[in-house]
Amino acid sequence: MHKRFSCSKMSRRSVLGGMAATASMVFSAPVAFAAGKLNIVATTGMIADAARVVGGDLVTVNSLMGAGVDPHAYRQTRSDIVAMTRSDLVLWHGLYLEAQMEQFFADLSRSKTVVPVAEGLPKELLLGHEDYEGRYDPHVWMDATLWSKVVGQVQAALTGAYPDGADTFETNAGAFREELVALDAYTRASLSKLTPEQRVLVTAHDAFGYFGAAYGFEVLGVQGISTESEAGLNRISEMVNTLVARDIRAVFVETSVSDRNMRALIEGAAAQGHEVRIGGSLYSDAMGLEGTYEGTYLGMIDHNVTTIARALGAEVPAGGRLGKLTMSS
Ligand SMILES: [Zn+2]
Repeated sequence: MHKRFSCSKMSRRSVLGGMAATASMVFSAPVAFAAGKLNIVATTGMIADAARVVGGDLVTVNSLMGAGVDPHAYRQTRSDIVAMTRSDLVLWHGLYLEAQMEQFFADLSRSKTVVPVAEGLPKELLLGHEDYEGRYDPHVWMDATLWSKVVGQVQAALTGAYPDGADTFETNAGAFREELVALDAYTRASLSKLTPEQRVLVTAHDAFGYFGAAYGFEVLGVQGISTESEAGLNRISEMVNTLVARDIRAVFVETSVSDRNMRALIEGAAAQGHEVRIGGSLYSDAMGLEGTYEGTYLGMIDHNVTTIARALGAEVPAGGRLGKLTMSS
């Protein structure tokens, strides 16, 4: 049996009294849509992707955070505020992912339909973290099965805002959920080629807790669950010692986080005569460039899984699940 929670920090138990109050699901009456389409603003690329897929031809979607943008630190710009004010529906993640925007959304929800799509997940499916007392780990997109449930929340929000589109949203969401099932199956098949000892994922911050829980990986982030907390020298040297003691040879950088700490790990290990390389760059909190396969949720996860599997020693095709991956890792 694989250790589901081999990282002692992560536990479904360590959840929580004292959750911060968040904006509740509020559905306003359908409004007259500009150009006949529901105009949606989403915070992260992953949520925008779900809204585009589920909404199809009935929606236009703007994403506030593009490739490489860190949602933990992001603050709304003046043009974001204009876009949200003009929209019919605002989708955000919740679970304190957009930490700097919580108050803004609480205020906006008085005049707009504003839905935190991850807040609707059953709490027993969420992870806690010792660094994040009183809150849940927000990185639920790392497990395609959990993300499928978020897609259901997006579908409900679209249907609430535009009931006439209910059938279309249902059809599109159903097809997307089938893709997510296939993605999960590919993930399991690829990672099953790794031995339990190989299943250690060292990353810049703790974004992969759900990935670890779902697929039997130990995850070690240099920074905690939010990139807002700086990793101290003690944490770096502790991690270096772990790499050396356990003969871990690959670490991963993230597209939305500086690679400074990961380079410090590699240098620290080298000073002890242990060679560590960058196993690849992962999409942790943001997808790839818009218009590319990696700029979709399916491509983002395919890239991560394929990169991790190959870097840690599994034989899986460089093109990934659908042969569409183009970025070298
Ligand atoms: Zn994160």
